[in-house]
Amino acid sequence: MTRPTVLICAGHDPSGGAGIQADIEAVAALGGHATTVITTLTDQDTSDVHATLTVDDTFFTRAVGTLCADMPPTAIKTGVLASVAQIERVCAIKHTHPDAPLVIDPVLAAAGGGRLADDSIGYALVRRLMPAADLVTPNLLEARRLTDADAGAETCAHELAELGTSALVTGGDTDDAVSVLATPAGDVTHFHHEQLAGGPFHGSGCTLASAIATQLAHGQPLNAAIESAAAYVHACLARADCPGHGQPLPERIQSC
Ligand code: PLP
Repeated sequence: MTRPTVLICAGHDPSGGAGIQADIEAVAALGGHATTVITTLTDQDTSDVHATLTVDDTFFTRAVGTLCADMPPTAIKTGVLASVAQIERVCAIKHTHPDAPLVIDPVLAAAGGGRLADDSIGYALVRRLMPAADLVTPNLLEARRLTDADAGAETCAHELAELGTSALVTGGDTDDAVSVLATPAGDVTHFHHEQLAGGPFHGSGCTLASAIATQLAHGQPLNAAIESAAAYVHACLARADCPGHGQPLPERIQSC
């Protein structure tokens, strides 16, 4: 049987903890096939992002087109989107593949604090991409930046859901360990996670969003996809290790 294809548009983190490598590993571990178009290169270690280099817009647009003509996505997941043109391209792909659930991880900064997107990206995510999306997965800091409010997780989730997408405001690895899902219909679900020592973990947000996209690609309904993806992420974080001098990295693939 052919594995479902999850199209990932995201940045490269050379440490292997976050970004496209995290996405590929999570998709593969959950039985999907990741197709990948890189949005930005980063100079990064396990502590922080030090510099970024955005992929040329024309090249990005072309690569997405070539790939989707050959391998239509069953689901789409975005991480760092580094230009408004990249955001427009993802909107267009969702438009031509309306049945492919679109999961947006609105990455604005690395866990170490280094910025990965400026305000124009945040604005375009809110105005253009979120109304086309099925799910957006900000952490609380990102949700506050995107809604321009100093509100709690549930208020932020509702505000984002008003754009037409379900919104999962993730309770990080180390805070209160509750994630709040709000849907455009106004339904709210709380997901409780067991708290883990040793965080923040580098790449946990990427891992979760890619895991959810893969479970949606397998046909799971949204709440079940979040539950099963969260259980997978928890297992990855529980066996995280520290190959560098900074944050621990989730171990997404168990050796054979
Ligand atoms: N994508 C890239 C390319 C990154 O470099 C980072 C963070 O460092 C992220 C995404 C976000 O990672 P996290 O899952 O820790 O939020």
